Amino acid sequence: MTRSIVTGGAGFLGSHLCDFLIAQGHQVACLDNLITGHKENIAHLAKNPNFRFLNRDVAKPLPSSLGKAHFVFHLASPASPAADSSKGYMAHSLKTIEANTVGTRLLLEYCQKTGSRFLYTSTSEVYGTPLEHPQKETYWGNVNPFGPRSCYDESKRLGETFVYEFIHKFKVNARIVRLFNTYGPRLNEADGRVVSNLITQALKGQALTVYGNGSQTRSFCYVSDLVRGLWKAVSLPRTAGEIFNLGNPHETSILQFAKLVKELCGKPGAKIIKKPLPQDDPIKRKPDISKAKKHLGWSPEIPLKEGLDQTINWYRSRI
Ligand code: UDP
Repeated sequence: MTRSIVTGGAGFLGSHLCDFLIAQGHQVACLDNLITGHKENIAHLAKNPNFRFLNRDVAKPLPSSLGKAHFVFHLASPASPAADSSKGYMAHSLKTIEANTVGTRLLLEYCQKTGSRFLYTSTSEVYGTPLEHPQKETYWGNVNPFGPRSCYDESKRLGETFVYEFIHKFKVNARIVRLFNTYGPRLNEADGRVVSNLITQALKGQALTVYGNGSQTRSFCYVSDLVRGLWKAVSLPRTAGEIFNLGNPHETSILQFAKLVKELCGKPGAKIIKKPLPQDDPIKRKPDISKAKKHLGWSPEIPLKEGLDQTINWYRSRI
C-alpha cells in the first residue's frame, strides 16, 4: 500500500490533501502541532484505519514509528500575513522560520534515508513585490529581508535552498511547488485573509474591509485544483529537481473581488470600507503556469464564481 506523510495535515490545504490521498487508497500519517491547524479539519478521517494523526512539531526529530513512506508532503507552516491574527505567521514568526528551515532539513534527511519522494510547498511570496509580471519560476523575486513578512518569505526561500542542497549533494528525489493564493472550505475565519474576512463580513451583514485602494491584484485558485496539482508534481516522472508555480492565472483586483463577494453572498448593498494597506503588501501577483501546463498537464478548472459559491456555502453553514 502507498504511504504518505503530510506535515501541516490539519491545516486548510493539508486537510484537503489528506482527503485526496485517502480517497486514492493511501495510508496517510498527518503531522501537525495545531498552532494554526485544527483537529476539526480532519475529524471526519479520525476513524479511518488508513489515517493517523500525530501531534508533532516538524522542527523536532521525526518519531521512529513513522516507518518508510513513499511520498512526503511538507506543508506545515503558518501562512497568513494578517498582522492582527493569532493564526498568522507574524504571531508565530520564530515557529514559522523553524518549520520552513529546520523542519525542511529534518524531512529531507528522512527522505535521504528512506528514498521517499519529497514535495516542498514554497510560496508566491518568494517573488515578494514582483518587478516581473506574471511571475515565472525563473524570476528571483524582490523580497524585503528585514520586515514583518520576512519571517515567512525568507524562511520559505531558505527552505528552497535546503531542497536544492539535498538534491545536488545527496540526490534526494525532491521538488518545489510555489503556491499562489488558494481558497475554499476550511479556510479559517480567524486567519484574517481576504477570502475569509470578506465572506464572513458579507454574510454577517458587516462592511467589507478593503486594504489600500483595492487596486492591488491577486489570483485565486480553488483548493481542489491545487491539490490535484500537488499530486501531479510529486507522482509524475521527471518532476524531481524541478520547481512549479501552482495557482490560477485569473487575476482580479481586490476591489473587484470584494464586489463579487458581495454579489455572491446576496448582499449587493453591503458597504466597502477602506483600511490602510499593510507594510510590504505586494501590489500585484499572478502566476505564469506554462511550466506546470507543459510538464504536468495541469491547469485549474474551477472558475472563481463557482469556487466562491462552494466556499460561501461552507461559511453559511457555520454562521
Ligand atoms: N486584504 C483586504 N482586506 C482584508 C484582508 C486582506 O483588502 O480584509 C488584502 C491584502 O492587503 C492583500 C490581499 O487582500 O492585498 C490578499 O491578502 P491575503 O491576506 O489574503 O493574502 P496575501 O496574498 O497578501 O498573502
